[in-house]
Amino acid sequence: MTEKRFPLSKARLEAICAEHPTPFHLYDEAAIRENARGLKKAFAVLGDGFKEFFAVKALPNPFILKILAAEGFGADASSLPEIALALKAGIGGEDIMFSSNDTPQAEFAAALRAGAIVNLDDISHIESLAAAGGIPELVCCRYNPGALKQGNAIIGKPEEAKYGFTRGQLLEGYRGLEAGGAKRFGLHTMVASNELDPEYFIETGRLLFELVAELSEKIGIRFEFVNLGGGIGIPYRPEQTAVPLARVAAGLKSAYDEIIVPAGLSPLKTYIECGRVVTGPYGYLVSRVIHMKDTYRKYVGLDASMANLMRPALYGAYHHITVLGKEEAEPMETYDVTGSLCENNDKFAIGRRLPAVEVGDLVAIHDSGAHGHAMGFNYNGKLRSAEFLLREDGSVVEIRRAETMDDYFSTLDFARLDSFEAGERHGR
Ligand SMILES: *Cc1c(COP(=O)(O)O)cnc(C)c1O
Repeated sequence: MTEKRFPLSKARLEAICAEHPTPFHLYDEAAIRENARGLKKAFAVLGDGFKEFFAVKALPNPFILKILAAEGFGADASSLPEIALALKAGIGGEDIMFSSNDTPQAEFAAALRAGAIVNLDDISHIESLAAAGGIPELVCCRYNPGALKQGNAIIGKPEEAKYGFTRGQLLEGYRGLEAGGAKRFGLHTMVASNELDPEYFIETGRLLFELVAELSEKIGIRFEFVNLGGGIGIPYRPEQTAVPLARVAAGLKSAYDEIIVPAGLSPLKTYIECGRVVTGPYGYLVSRVIHMKDTYRKYVGLDASMANLMRPALYGAYHHITVLGKEEAEPMETYDVTGSLCENNDKFAIGRRLPAVEVGDLVAIHDSGAHGHAMGFNYNGKLRSAEFLLREDGSVVEIRRAETMDDYFSTLDFARLDSFEAGERHGR
């Protein structure tokens, strides 16, 4: 069981909303920091070599990245803008893991300029990397275990996933990288997303440790790290439980002691690149009820839409909803909670039991701290919302302003439109 509590009272949130219009995402700094420290503590059993590279795509806000960097995290970037964002937040060099796929050559060049650890997704990328600026001293390859490993609902089966090298390609790839001048090596895999079973990550670690042993022996190279990727899930539903990170770490440690130590391959660092478990539970989409509708079902219409948080519409994902001021009220009604897009799947919840809702109520949609604002879009002319940080002293600061219509139009040239000859209508 996981308690789903919004960190502020209704009165405090109303005061914030009097200054900042809904909808917006609100992130809880104290909770993010406490969780970051808890994560590091849980994995401390793996020694100094453990490091988390926060997956920038989950919450690409430089204020958040700066907080996480202060807590000792690096950044996992997958594109040139994400590398630039990490650099702006003061994260550079080997504190950036560049895990991308189908990578444009210019992005390899940017990663090399930043001194990032380049994690290759495909054997053909060795040539692109060489052409982009040369094979660096430290390089990593992403493994796809294929049918060896079962996938899960979001990421699918590994053998159907587009990511990574096959085992055979890894042998050839590392040989090629070594011939090209690489001296330090990492091995990466990521085979799950939003996975709650701790055994899953232990098995993944075991698989990587065994592969490191095999590759080290066959190729004669020394591995510096394994990167288990991201994918640690969070309890979106109150009846779910957070992944026991200490259990994962202890399982990884035994696998390490069993496989890596006797093979003489220690020290080998353990990296992860999680996003969701780091910030997910500490973000809330705050929205106001602007419309109630009673037809074949009862609808609660919000001023937010799937353009602000698309996980429910995209994956049918559950996001808990708190109606402010009605936290203790009985859930007596059943509603579909909707946004205003001209898309029938623009629903935050379907058939959700909630206390009786009225127009004007404020709601907090939980667990928007990862893959929330970041997945936002402008369909139907919806503008991206602001992001706020609830600081440890209780103050609230804007860490990204809301888009305006001018932002929405900023890529259009209306001066050219005025002189644009549309010509006569077709089908005269
Ligand atoms: C998405 C992604 C992550 C982060 O995933 P979470 O589920 O947020 O932990 C890490 N690494 C890679 C390569 C990814 O694609």
